[in-house]
Amino acid sequence: MRVSQLYAPTLREVPAEAVLESHKLMLRAGYIRKIAGGLYSYLPLAWKSIKKIEQIIREEMDRTGAQEIMMPIVQPSEIWKESGRWDVYGAEMFRLKDRHGREFCLGPTHEEMITTLVKNELHSYRQLPTNLYQIQSKFRDEKRPRFGLMRSREFIMKDAYSFDADEAGLDASYQKMYDAYERIFDRCGLKYRPVEADPGAIGGNGSHEFMGIADSGEAGIVYCDTCDYAADVEKAECAALPAPDEAPLPLEKKNTPGCNTIEAVCNFLHAPILKSVKAVAFTSDKGGLVLCFVRGDHEVNEIKVTNAIGANEVMMAPDEMIQEAGTVPGFMGPIGLDTKKCTILIDSTVMNMHNVCCGANAVDTHYVNAEPSRDFVYTKVLDIRTAVKGDKCPHCEGHLKEARGIEVGQVFKLYKKYSEALGATFLDPDGREKPMYMGSYGIGVGRTLAAVVEQYHDENGIIMPKHVAPYEVIVLPVNVKDADSFSKAEEIYETLNQHGIETILDDRDERAGVKFKDADLIGYPVRIVVGPKTMARNAMECKVRYTGEMKDIPLEGDYVKAIREVLDKTL
Ligand code: ATP
Ligand code: MG
Repeated sequence: MRVSQLYAPTLREVPAEAVLESHKLMLRAGYIRKIAGGLYSYLPLAWKSIKKIEQIIREEMDRTGAQEIMMPIVQPSEIWKESGRWDVYGAEMFRLKDRHGREFCLGPTHEEMITTLVKNELHSYRQLPTNLYQIQSKFRDEKRPRFGLMRSREFIMKDAYSFDADEAGLDASYQKMYDAYERIFDRCGLKYRPVEADPGAIGGNGSHEFMGIADSGEAGIVYCDTCDYAADVEKAECAALPAPDEAPLPLEKKNTPGCNTIEAVCNFLHAPILKSVKAVAFTSDKGGLVLCFVRGDHEVNEIKVTNAIGANEVMMAPDEMIQEAGTVPGFMGPIGLDTKKCTILIDSTVMNMHNVCCGANAVDTHYVNAEPSRDFVYTKVLDIRTAVKGDKCPHCEGHLKEARGIEVGQVFKLYKKYSEALGATFLDPDGREKPMYMGSYGIGVGRTLAAVVEQYHDENGIIMPKHVAPYEVIVLPVNVKDADSFSKAEEIYETLNQHGIETILDDRDERAGVKFKDADLIGYPVRIVVGPKTMARNAMECKVRYTGEMKDIPLEGDYVKAIREVLDKTL
């Protein structure tokens, strides 16, 4: 490819809505273009990178014995109704009708489709395990599409599904996928960490997310400073924290005018926040009020609450609902309420506290010296808070640290959820009919590319890791009008390509400065400069984008080998 022919329109001005560096750079460098919110065209540079990531994924999936297939994007509503997800999926699902009025959706994921596919064809234990995967566009009408390819509404996903005869088989299939994911992200050059993830409604302990490490990541992660434990904050288990022992004092009501936040109350009463209890009121798709109480400095974890009440999602409760339960927004407390009118969840740390301050269920009123074990009413005491740095590790004596991540992939033990719902059974060696054990395994291909760019860039542009770079080498003749050096540059360009090193030639009649800038912006791993000056030294100048390292490579001798060595060593 010659840069004069390359469709990579670079931009000087980046649209103001782009906040992440990866998004800005991919627009500026001419990798992608937006047509509407969360809908992007991949221009040649992005598409080449995407295809390389897909190829890495294919090779690693095939190595595990998984087989590539391709299923329709358009899915009939019936299979989603059978699994019960047609309603659960809600507004995120793109729905459509055909000319006969039949309902369909654009696949946001394919568990229903694959289960329906295999249920008539995998019927014996002899055919298990089987793992099928595809690389395809998925559609999700995201509430907040943003960050370019990171959170778009149409995006490319690799999704794989495993089918096993029993739980041990599922564990083995899951581990194979987990290991393949590590190899995939290693080969992409990504800095990542697998973390325990919330398995949601499916329960059990079977999900990991692969998080690209980035301060700008949307996901919170905690990890242990001592052992291997790492988890999504949505999932991280929190031990009940101890509180200093104190003799219980008599419960007292206080007037707290206008103090409807925990900070205001603590200030007003001169109470330490560690001896205060705050409330959050939810309702859910199941209806009903759920009052949650945590220590004043802690945060209620919505996922844990959702799981605790067996709902699909929770949302803030409206004021009227709170009032109907006999309390007041801003002054809610777990004393004197009726658990028949609402569900009361108390975080386990709270039950260790003494002489605490909490809302008194009347305007401008709080209790002090409340003794949780003596005074609180509740439905359940359990872990409902979000882990924070400094928390004790649930697995060892270490403590948790915080980081942020970009979820590039997730692996999931589905157990029998879909096989039971959709009737995907097989006959075991004794001829008994049993549901299959399933796993599902996703990778966001575009998000992986964006995460790579998010991790590797500098003030001059993108720094592409060689295995996912659109081209490995750019040959940059300083002056195309200088016949000698230009024909040398062309020769190097041809030779490298013939030897399987993907190379692009900047043959444009532009100032060298402009060409250097574009090469840095696009992020080719290695830049080879040829000009009258380097010719005089009988050399080409080789620069590594990642390290900035520069050296001359002699024009005579095996320069292909020399360049390959440079490539081998770089990111
Ligand atoms: P998120 O929590 O970020 O919305 P998810 O958990 O809903 O993602 P999965 O259903 O696990 O996503 O999908 C598998 C993979 O697809 C994710 O790990 C991610 O890399 C990618 N992905 C999901 N949603 C998007 C999106 N809107 N845009 C780009 N990639 C996405
Ligand atoms: Mg996920």
